[in-house]
Parts: sequence; C-alpha cells; structure tokens
Amino acid sequence: MPFDQYPTYLGTDLGMNWSVDKTIFKLWSPAAQAVKLRLYSNGSTGKAIQTIDLQKKDNGVWEATLSGNQKGKYYTVQVQQGGKWLAETPDAYAKAVGLNGKRGMILDLTETNPTGWATDKRPIQKQFTDIILYELHIRDLSINPNSGIKNAGKFLGLTETGTKNTKGLSTGLDHIKALGVTHVHLLPAFDYRHTSVDESKLDQPQYNWGYDPEHYNVPEGSYSTNPSDGAVRIHEFKQAIKTLHENGIRVVMDVVYNHTGATEGSVFNQTVPGYYYRQNADGSYSNASGCGNETASERTMVRKYIIESMKYWAQEYHIDGFRVDLMGIHDIETMNQASAALHAIDPTIYIYGEGWTAGSSPLPDSLRATKANTFKLNQVAAFSDDLRDALKGSVFNHTEKGFINGRTGLEESIKFGITASVQHPQVDYSKVNYSKAPWAKEPYQTITYAECHDNHTLWDRLTLSCPDASEEDRIKMQKLAMTIVLTSQGVPFLHAGMEMLRTKNGVENSFNSPDEINRFDWDRKTKYLAFNDYVRQLIQLRKNHPAFRMPTADMIRRNIKFLETKDPNLIVYQIGLRANNDNWTRIVVIYNGNTEEKFVTLPKGGTYNIVLDGTQIVETGIKTLISPKVGVPGMSAMILVE
Ligand code: CA
Repeated sequence: MPFDQYPTYLGTDLGMNWSVDKTIFKLWSPAAQAVKLRLYSNGSTGKAIQTIDLQKKDNGVWEATLSGNQKGKYYTVQVQQGGKWLAETPDAYAKAVGLNGKRGMILDLTETNPTGWATDKRPIQKQFTDIILYELHIRDLSINPNSGIKNAGKFLGLTETGTKNTKGLSTGLDHIKALGVTHVHLLPAFDYRHTSVDESKLDQPQYNWGYDPEHYNVPEGSYSTNPSDGAVRIHEFKQAIKTLHENGIRVVMDVVYNHTGATEGSVFNQTVPGYYYRQNADGSYSNASGCGNETASERTMVRKYIIESMKYWAQEYHIDGFRVDLMGIHDIETMNQASAALHAIDPTIYIYGEGWTAGSSPLPDSLRATKANTFKLNQVAAFSDDLRDALKGSVFNHTEKGFINGRTGLEESIKFGITASVQHPQVDYSKVNYSKAPWAKEPYQTITYAECHDNHTLWDRLTLSCPDASEEDRIKMQKLAMTIVLTSQGVPFLHAGMEMLRTKNGVENSFNSPDEINRFDWDRKTKYLAFNDYVRQLIQLRKNHPAFRMPTADMIRRNIKFLETKDPNLIVYQIGLRANNDNWTRIVVIYNGNTEEKFVTLPKGGTYNIVLDGTQIVETGIKTLISPKVGVPGMSAMILVE
C-alpha cells in the first residue's frame, strides 16, 4: 500500500500511558502483521519477564492493556511485517528510556518533577525582539576543570551558582546571568545515538554535538548523573530548566526532526518501515540532511509526530523556544501548524530555524520552510546567513574577508542585516550577497549572528583570514562584528564563549572533536576581561534602548534612515526620533569596516554625545562633540546620541 493511503490515527495517546491501576500501550503500524510487547525488569540487561501480543484495532493502531501498577519496568516493541520480525526497539513515542535508549521505561512522569515545578514560570518576555539568544552545548560549559563546576558535563552543571575560574571570576550560570542574555539555546538535549556517545562508558572521554537523534521525546542520558535509570535524566533536565527560569533565563531546545541518526535501524523504520522518510524515484532514501535520510514532514503521521513532540517539550518540560535544525527540509504547512499549536500553549514561545538543507530534496522548493519562504511562515524566524557572511566572509571560503576586515561591496548586505531582512526603501537588494529580496515580514523573523557552533569560531576565522593582523586588530574586528549583531534590528544570537574570544584551535566543525577543542576555557575570561565586559555592556545597551529592537517592520522603515557616505565600507544611519519610545531622541550609528579612520558629518540638529566609541560604552556619554564632524577609528563602531 502506498504510504499516502495508510490509515491515520489522530488520537494523542500513542505510546505508553501509565496509570496506577493499568498501563495502556498503543502503537501505530498499519502494515504490521503482528506486534509483540516485552517487559523487562532492567533497562539494558536480562531476559523479558513477560511477552504480550498487541491486538489490532482501527486506523493502523495496535494495543494492549496491562493491569496493575507497571511503574519502573522497561519495555520493547517488535513488529512483524512482510513475514519478517524487525528489531526490538522502544516505541517512537517513548517518554523515558534506559541505558543507550535500548528499552523504553514505564513511569509516572509526575515523580520526575523537581520541587516547586508546579509553580515554575517562564521569565517575562514582552516582544520577540527583546530576545537575546546564547547558543550553548551542555558539556562545553562545565567539563573544563577551570569551570569550578562539580557536575561537569551534566544538566546539573547548569544549576550551580557561586562557581569560579582559577582567577576567581564567575563561571557557568552566574556568568551567563551577568552577561544579560535572555535565552539559553541548548544544542541537542534529546537522546542521541550510542554510536556518538556510549552512555555505558561515561568514565571515558567522549564528545558529540548530538545531531543524530534516536529518541525525540527523551533527554540525552550522558548529561544525567545516571543514564541507567530512565527517570533521572528527566528529573535533572527539568531541574536545569527550572533553575534557569528562576534566574530569569528562558530555555530553547535545538530540535532535529529532519533526519534520524540511524536509517534502516531507526525506531521509525523498525516500527513503520519507510513511512517516516522521503524516497527518491528509485525508492532509495533521499538525503537532504546529508546524514543518510530525511524525514517526510508532509505525511500526516510524521507531521503529527513532530507537532506532538514539540508540544510535549513545551508542556512537560516548560521549554520556551525551538531552534529547528535544517528547517528547509520540513514543509511550510508543518511549521505553520507547529507554530499555531505551540502559540496556543503560550504565545511567547519563540521558533526559529535554519532556512536551508544540506542537500537536494524531492519536496518542491515552493513547499519547503526555507529562508526565502519565511514570509509564508507564521511566527517562525530564520537565520540570516546574509549578514553572517557579509560580516566575516563566506563560511565556505576560509580566507575570505568580510565587512569587518575591510572587504568592500558588502555594504548593502550589512544594511539588509541592520534592517532585519524586512523591506526598507534604502536597501539596494540587487547588491545583497545572497537574497535579492527581503524575506522577513517582521523583524523578529530574522536571527542576526556572526558565529554559531557550525564552522570556525569568529576568533579562529579571523586568524585564518587575517594571518598578518595583530591580536589587537583582530579584537577590534570581533568587537565590530558583535557590535553590529547587538545593535541591528531582529533577534541577536551569540555563540557561547564569543564574549571571551572563543577558540577551537582552528578546528572547523568540531562535532566529535575532544573536550580539549570544544570546552570553554574559563581562564580566557580573565585574559580577555575587557572584551567580556564590552559585550556585557553592549547587551545592556540593547536592553536599555528599545530603539535597537523595534517590534515591527513599519517602525523600522519609519525610523531608520541611512546617511550618504563618500567612503566604501562605512555605514552611517540614524534611528529616530524616540523610536519605539526610546528615551534617546536621535541615535546615530556608525560602522567603519576600513582599517583606517574615517570622518563623518553628523545630521544637523543639537549637540551629540558619544556613548560608544569602539572601546567603551557609557550611556550617559563619553564625551560631547563640539563640531558636527567626527573621526571614527578603523575597524570600529561609534554610537552618538543627540
Ligand atoms: Ca543517548
């Protein structure tokens, strides 16, 4: 039977449904001939203590009811199809698993709640454009001994306060809180494959980013203090989320529904062979993920699965946002339905994704949630590679320079970034590097960034593209890039550690590099404390001044005016007057990407105070200008206030 003729089941009770007097299992597998459920007393070893044949019901559902309290037992399902028994796996809807995700676990989820969970609240957020994202790998934060964090590499490492580096400066949660970001965006925290990190060998150093999903509705075991007990990782992840919330920080999960880590052996393929994936005309798996397969979000039960999973994290774990990996693989309709479902739970949940794929897909471009189609997405944002690469050069050409180190011709791309990819009359779209038209309806739909976990850190990139530049000059370049990111409209995104000039020693995609490459070096905070303090002040400047985070495209068009300059690589614009109810009347922002000083004549008006001069930020004014002409040093920004 073709996949689109499979009967569908619209109930929300697929998987394990525990209650004190019975547990009901429901598995959707329309082409199965038989399904067995096995119970175990342990999550990874020992023989089955009971084997049950599931009964076929309507709509492709198989079901069994086990009487009595089954709490604490582990289980697998096994499907017979085409006369062949497939592998034993947990079901795709599993909410808890044992060691390395081999078996599902029956549990009472309320028992995994930390104390006070019922009153846990999402920190206040008025507008999406108030968000400042901080992208963090759980292990990187705390695995270095110089973090001073006891629960090294664990969810609980995010909950420790009072931790210090070897020179006594704050690390971990205290550091993030002092920096002032509003959201911590966690690299994959769902359960990923044992082939990347073996949960039975946590005494040995292992590392992975985690972009190889195994169980979508379960936290990763290696981040827990005991991956063998399926309840522990759930409790500890909730504890981390609750602690971040108590400290005023929201939590975003990186979700990877676009592919599964395994292909033939995946839970999806062992329960409903082929259905969850797109195929090429010859029947082979298509591979827009570059990882061997891509899921088929346009199919009813795949779409339903993705939406229910996101809702589950938002409701059960109080997750505040989702970063959708390779969102361009998913269809627009799925993303819009997910957005509607999540915003019905809480309208402040923030959803954004990578508006591209890592290969070609059989799904037509017009249906896919790519960056160019962002205007068809409802309350979903996309990453701006336009601004990212305009700042530093293409990520695919490691020695190419960008605006911050003197390459000309990128001015319109930077302006495109400043105006958050919304339509603005003064941007010449024919000269924007990648997008020849605005793609965001509203500014919150654009994620503004210079660096993320992929590719080189900006600091390493500057070493590659400017081998002859002094460290002092490279610091100026990074400062300029971060100033542009944090003063542009849209939603700024920082890769954790940028504030201390993070290096991975030149390693580009460090997804399985050792801790020594990936971990934070907290002593860099001491070494580059002035830089860290500048970034903290930049974040404060953005938070204090709504002019830098206008909520609507109309407001941006009305209030941002670019001024003529005679020099290339020099961008001057004013924001005014009292844009977005700012207490500053007129703000003039200057970005000088040239190596030498440039002079700018300010708009006629009153007197101007310099509040940001490339080395420091003083909101009450560093100095007052007497002449309307101001010199802006090379590779630096300046902000003046009338
Ligand atoms: Ca795992």
